Amino acid sequence: MDDITPDKGRWDAHLHIMPPERIAGLVRWIQKAFPGHPARQDITPGEMLDDLRSVGVTNALNFVFPLREEETEPLNLFNRDLANRYPQLIPFGSLHVETPRKDEVAEQCILEYGLAGIKLHPYAQRFEVFCPQFEPLYRKLDELGKPLFVHTGFDAFYGRTQDLDCLRGILEKYPGMQVVLVHSLFPRLRLARELVSTYDQVWLDMTNSLSMVRWSRTAPGAMWVEHFGEEPEAEMDCFEPLVEEFSRRILFGTDHPVGMGTVEQIYADLDSFGFSEAVKADLTGGSAVALLEKTGRPGPT
Ligand SMILES: [Zn+2]
Repeated sequence: MDDITPDKGRWDAHLHIMPPERIAGLVRWIQKAFPGHPARQDITPGEMLDDLRSVGVTNALNFVFPLREEETEPLNLFNRDLANRYPQLIPFGSLHVETPRKDEVAEQCILEYGLAGIKLHPYAQRFEVFCPQFEPLYRKLDELGKPLFVHTGFDAFYGRTQDLDCLRGILEKYPGMQVVLVHSLFPRLRLARELVSTYDQVWLDMTNSLSMVRWSRTAPGAMWVEHFGEEPEAEMDCFEPLVEEFSRRILFGTDHPVGMGTVEQIYADLDSFGFSEAVKADLTGGSAVALLEKTGRPGPT
């Protein structure tokens, strides 16, 4: 993988550069949930990448997700073109529950557009993805050996749930599809640990989750109940052992521009845990590169 250079800088495994109207919408949404959030509605791709560069990030996995079916193709083309303009980005495709022939769309994303895999955000997109309608997608990703990134967790915050029994069935049926559980089912970290230890193809993305663990310890109380509906202390206790045991399959990123504060704060949160340099190296690049190496170099074939 000539173009992947983990030793030169950090990898952000969770970035959202999208078209301007979608960025503005994301920023409005996060500022409604967290008044005073530092994001700007008119931030440009160049400014986002400058922000990341200021904290040593040289590469990033970039995610889009359509809120309406008609957005699917334009967003996938957007991410392809963006990565042509900024080769430090690894672009992922996405699709909608109403997208017909999900297998063909995934194949086009990967083989024709050179996207690295598929990312779904079923809570923001407001549909279930662990269900038979998405089987053609999973079958195709399994066949191509390409990864699925899928939002999990923060149920109370979004007011949604997902069918995790069905997820287990998908993991059993499609062992060739690497599955990244984005946000690691937060706050259900014990369940995340069980899945990553049971299924070799499961990876965890600790984006936002890590900052939430820090928050839970430094600012317990009302904010938790308001946003998360339950006191997650017992779950938080397994955070460090989970990260230390499975760091080689744990990714981390900023969710910029709508992560848990500024990019400086997000990496300060990571440093606040006192993990070993080896564990931090996994989270800030090693695991992302390992996943990409396992699933093949992205690019047109
Ligand atoms: Zn995100």
